[in-house]
Amino acid sequence: MIPVVLPTYNRAPLSFVKGEGSWLTTDDGNRYLDLGAGIAVNALGHANPDLVEALTQQAQQLWHVSNLYRIPQQERLALQLVDKTFADTVFFTNSGTEACELAIKMARKYHYDKGTPRAEIITFEGAFHGRSTAAIAASGAEKMVKGFGPLMPGFRQIAFGDHAALRAAVTDQSCAVMIEPIQGEGGIRTLPDACLKGLRDLCDEHGALLIFDEVQCGMGRSGKLFAHEWAGVTPDIMMVAKGIGGGFPLGAVLATEEAASGMVAGTHGSTYGGNPLACAVGAKVMDIVSDDGFLAAVNRKAALFAQGLQSLVARHPAVYDSLRGQGLILGLKCKMTNTDIVKANYDQHLLTVPAADNVIRLLPALNIPDADIAEALARLDRAATAVEHGA
Ligand SMILES: *Cc1c(COP(=O)(O)O)cnc(C)c1O
Repeated sequence: MIPVVLPTYNRAPLSFVKGEGSWLTTDDGNRYLDLGAGIAVNALGHANPDLVEALTQQAQQLWHVSNLYRIPQQERLALQLVDKTFADTVFFTNSGTEACELAIKMARKYHYDKGTPRAEIITFEGAFHGRSTAAIAASGAEKMVKGFGPLMPGFRQIAFGDHAALRAAVTDQSCAVMIEPIQGEGGIRTLPDACLKGLRDLCDEHGALLIFDEVQCGMGRSGKLFAHEWAGVTPDIMMVAKGIGGGFPLGAVLATEEAASGMVAGTHGSTYGGNPLACAVGAKVMDIVSDDGFLAAVNRKAALFAQGLQSLVARHPAVYDSLRGQGLILGLKCKMTNTDIVKANYDQHLLTVPAADNVIRLLPALNIPDADIAEALARLDRAATAVEHGA
């Protein structure tokens, strides 16, 4: 008999009833150290007091009004995002997938309004942009698209790192290039700065728009507010979600005035997108995460964690191959099966997240205390020893 919850997830037999900082407590009273943060969502830890306050204060005033009216909380958060990024304008969504949908629409409408419609969007093998019919077409991965055809046309995937194929694919007919500066689901694969720069030049040369998907790597996770800042290039359009709501569903599309020029009244909408509750929380997250001192602390914690992880890899060469990633979006490339290691981590009451390319992801809260980093390293070490001994 089918479970009452549609069984599209392979769920671990764990159920949490309470969270605090980097810790989660199960229904049977066990405490787990959380290095997944809801897959990069709980950027400021569980039950963060500042976010609880922002949420409850807003909840007592107003939860929802339609986008038929001005929403001051939305305007405030948009202004914060515009102030701190390349963008001139922001549309709020409830998720990364919805941000992806708008990014695609915006890019196509831009060219249409120029009088030279262009449909094709270049994407990359291993990419993840969400689970809508358009987002799975963008990814092209067999395990996501199989059985769901006919797929939305107009996407072409290029092998990660294949510069020649990329140069051949981007032409004066190309609508846009869409890429995660650091692939999340794809296995924490970082695009080298030089490649992001080259991509910007290639798009400029052919009049194609550059779309960055920073749903997972953005909002301070890389040690910059947005990961592309490391490379010193900016996109025309950017998708944001996950960390921006700190656990409350919220996403956004950021764009330059030029790229957004086609999106006039009536061309897009959302019932819930940018509601007062979500934006009150998002504004508080932005207050905290966009602060230079906070980002400096992320980088310091990341260096501490990475140093420990390098020595973990060195101590367990049969389990781990190498460390990858930047800031607090880190991946351990495994030699043994990643899901076995994730299970061994569960046995140590430690939450880690598998990714493609036989990687386990480490995405702790950006404000994880140093003591919790030390504890996580100790648990990872015990788990690796257990896996070595086939336990
Ligand atoms: C999670 C994710 C998405 C999809 O976001 P949802 O909120 O699950 O719809 C899109 N792109 C990237 C890079 C992601 O990590």
